[in-house]
Parts: sequence; structure tokens; C-alpha cells
Amino acid sequence: MHQLCNVCGSCLNSTIYESPENLSITTMNSLIDGKTSVYFCQSCSHLQTNELPDLINYYATEYEINLNSEEDDQLYKVVDGKMLYRADHQATVLQSKVDLFPGCRVLDYGCAKAPTLKKVVISNPDIEPFLFDVTDKYISFWNLYPRQVNYSVFQPDPSWKGSMDIVLSFYALEHVANLKEAISNIKSLLKPGGIFYFIVPNVYENIADFIVADHINHFSKGSLKSFLSKEGFRDIAIDDMVHDAAFVVTAKLSLNSELLPTEVNSQEVNKCYNSCLDMAVYWQNAISRILEFEKNIDDKGIVAIYGAGFYGNLIASTLKRFNKVQCFIDQNKYLQGTHINHKPVLSPEEINEEISYVFVGLNPRVAHETIDNIKCWKNHQLNYFYF
Ligand SMILES: [Zn+2]
Repeated sequence: MHQLCNVCGSCLNSTIYESPENLSITTMNSLIDGKTSVYFCQSCSHLQTNELPDLINYYATEYEINLNSEEDDQLYKVVDGKMLYRADHQATVLQSKVDLFPGCRVLDYGCAKAPTLKKVVISNPDIEPFLFDVTDKYISFWNLYPRQVNYSVFQPDPSWKGSMDIVLSFYALEHVANLKEAISNIKSLLKPGGIFYFIVPNVYENIADFIVADHINHFSKGSLKSFLSKEGFRDIAIDDMVHDAAFVVTAKLSLNSELLPTEVNSQEVNKCYNSCLDMAVYWQNAISRILEFEKNIDDKGIVAIYGAGFYGNLIASTLKRFNKVQCFIDQNKYLQGTHINHKPVLSPEEINEEISYVFVGLNPRVAHETIDNIKCWKNHQLNYFYF
């Protein structure tokens, strides 16, 4: 059966990548059965991953974002030794992009704990916040909002129809196989002229996104534009600079139903296609490079994995002698003190003198800089593996 492009409906011919083993890795760092197959759409430059049958089970049982505590958050970046967390950064960017006028109705659609909107409400107490998620497991967090908040679970409240000035979506559309249905739900909640503001990963800036099994959609600037204009959005602004490895998108729902033709720039499509081919080759080689490096570790060598996120877990699942790994190392204080496969997650300061090999499980774009900035490792003789 032919795969169809989620954005433009074109036929997707052949895969440009397939995972080497019959196992795929997810954003929650778990392994699920089945091969990850990635397709490129020559018509709109959308990159798309096949939806594995086991994903349904994965969402039902494992997919939970930062459920550990109220404060638990993902580390966005380390700037001059200071930790910047994702929700803080997202709140700052949102406030710089969208007019949050007094009384404006703002819905976080698929909100999970909704930490970004919470921060925005603290600095804009006169806006009207609304929360929606398909599950009820985050309600206890919503009750911690600084003011009473309108929320709905399983389905958006029917009375919200056509009433929202702004609908927000943070890292959700990449998971959605039926984009058409998702966008029509969002449109039905917006007022005419209302703003859809969302963030999705930018695979061209974070190569890990290419092989994550639960990211069905890997948008490009071109495929985002096709997708939104086809659905009747105007004033589409796509910022690929303000948030690392992500597209921050603002689009206004048209006041009338007239659809403008979507222009496709074939040069841009080709550029994306070539980058995707490079990424495919990169991943085919990366796994063998991990194994090659591991082979050269002598029997006495003690190993650490830097990074308790996706890349670190990918390394852990690839190693043949995981028993040689003493610990994971991560600068995210919410991960320190936890365990991955029975190995502790430590801060860089806690590293044992005996460790001589470090697999650096970080986005290759930032990996060297991050490791170079760890002052307490300067006098340590360490052999590094980099992606
Ligand atoms: Zn397409």
C-alpha cells in the first residue's frame, strides 16, 4: 500500500531511510518493535515517518511529559553556566510574538502540564486561559495555576467553538498522523482572524528528529507553508532562529473561506531532499561508529554516557557491553539522581576519577561546545566519542 503525504496528499514512493534493526526508538527513549521508515515528499518537501502499530500502546502506557513533579522541565540550553529551561524560554518567545491583550482567550491545545501558558498567565494576569488535553492525567497540575482555569479533557468543550483569539500547540503536530483532522479541530475553536501559534521540531537543526519513531511529521518551511495556506491561514510567519532546533509558527485564520494557491519552490524542495539524503547516510553510519569506538575500549576501561536524553539512550541501547557503563551524566537537575537501566544519572562534578571513556550523547551541533564548557573536566584525561 502506498503511503500518502500527510500535508499535500501526494504519493510517497520509496523510503529514504530504514532503521537497521527491527527496533525503533521513541522520544521517551523506549524501544518499540518495528522498523522506522522515512519518506520524503517531492511535491511539498514534507518528511514523514511510518506510523508503527506499537505506537498506540506506547502513547497509552509510556508517553508522559515531565510527570514527576510540578517543576520538572526539560533543559533548553546552558548559557554562561546558567540553566535555561524550556517552558521559560517558550513563554518569553510567545510573549514577543503574539499580542496578549486584556481579556483575550488563549487555549493551549494538547497542553499536558501546560507550564508555558502558566508562566504567561503570571505575567499577563488579565488574559483568559483555557486548557485541553486528550487525557485527564494532568488535572492535578492545572489546579496549581495561579488562577482558576477553564479546562476540558478528552474533547474540547463544545461551548468553546469559534471563540478563541489564540490557540497554542507546543510539540504536538509532529506526533499526529491525521493532520487534516487536527487542524480542522483547531480551526473550529478559533474566531475568524484568530491566531494559531505552534512549535514543532526542525529536523534540519536536530538530526535526532530524523529517526525518532513517534515523530510522524518532520516539517520543512515549505511543507508548513503548504499545510497552513491550504487550510485557509494567512500571514504565516515561520521563525527558525528564536528557538533552537524548532520552527515557531504564527498564522492567522482567514476571515473568508477563499483559498489562495500554494506556491512550491522547487529549489527549496531539492535543498531539503539533499539534506534528508545526508541525514539518512549519517544515521546508517552512526550506529557502526558507536560499535567501532566500543570495540577499542580495553577491558579495564570504565565508561560514562554524557546525556540522559535521546542520544544518550540511543548509545545505551546500541552498546554490546553496557555493563561497562558506570553512569550517565547530565546537567539537567531534574534528571540528576534518577536512574536509566539501573545506572545513576550524575552531574559532571560527580564523575568518578576512574572513568576514562565518555560517549557524548548530544546533538552534534552543540556537543563539542557543551563538553568544552565543562570546567571541572579540564584536567581529566578522557577519551570522547562524538556523534
Ligand atoms: Zn507533500
